[in-house]
Amino acid sequence: MGHISVIGSCSMDLMIEADRRPQAGETVMGKRLIVSPGGKGANQAVAAARLGEKVYMIGCVGNDAYGSMMLDTLKENGVNTDYVSVLDNEATGTAHIILAEGDNSIIVLKGANDKVDKNVVDSAFDIIKTSSLVMLQHEIPMDTIGYIIDRCYEEGIPVMLNPAPYMDIPEEWIEKVTYLTPNEHEAALMFEGMDRDEILKAHAGKVIMTVGKEGVVYGDGDDVVHVSGFTVSAVDTTGAGDTFNGAFAAARCDGLPLKEAVRFANAAAALSVQKIGAQGGMPWRSEVEEMLS
Ligand code: ADP
Repeated sequence: MGHISVIGSCSMDLMIEADRRPQAGETVMGKRLIVSPGGKGANQAVAAARLGEKVYMIGCVGNDAYGSMMLDTLKENGVNTDYVSVLDNEATGTAHIILAEGDNSIIVLKGANDKVDKNVVDSAFDIIKTSSLVMLQHEIPMDTIGYIIDRCYEEGIPVMLNPAPYMDIPEEWIEKVTYLTPNEHEAALMFEGMDRDEILKAHAGKVIMTVGKEGVVYGDGDDVVHVSGFTVSAVDTTGAGDTFNGAFAAARCDGLPLKEAVRFANAAAALSVQKIGAQGGMPWRSEVEEMLS
């Protein structure tokens, strides 16, 4: 069996719940603190590993308590962490989330994620170049992402880019990657001026667009294919996209045809939204198979 390499972020999510968010200069009492491992890179690595894939995480954490928690969680989920660098003078990335009045306010500290550079990539290149698929997101420096896309393109290694959080990217990246997996909002920003069907037909088989509970749409030649989502009662949609990406990667690496891989990933993501937390809700393979049977 081949392996997947995820080159991306490892962050700790620090979520505090309160009745309302503080005004400038004000202190309010919180209700509870939820500390959970996250970061789109680590989330997608865990999602694929839980589905039975051999997954290598390539990235950076700080030499601190959050960094060791991140590594422990990745390992517990079966992700290989040999290529996660532990940096002495950087803090592990953190997301500081206030959950109040039914909405999130988030401050992100990139920390060690900002140090995922060419050297980190080069030192893991033996693993990267033998991957069945390389998975990328937008939470490491953009010049590193460009470097990886170029090197993988030269070596003929398939790359899946999940363009989240949204940032402007060079047209050339879109041409060079095998899959681009925006949600509806990211796709609208990325392909400004084009409607949904135009985007999908122009990048048939490449742009796999997630559309929340509606599922996924993609182009097949001149047709647009809609693969419906599964109807479930969602409690927390954090990490739905990450679960989708990890599961889609797993299914394609297992040889499932495109449409079946999308359906498999829709099922995995629908299972994940029924539990709280990004990684906490990610399903194991047997759960997805049961949902599909
Ligand atoms: P993101 O989480 O990146 O914003 P989406 O909201 O498009 O991405 O969700 C990604 C995938 O998760 C969808 O394609 C779908 O398969 C699944 N999903 C999201 N929300 C729900 C929901 N409420 N019910 C069932 N599946 C969902």
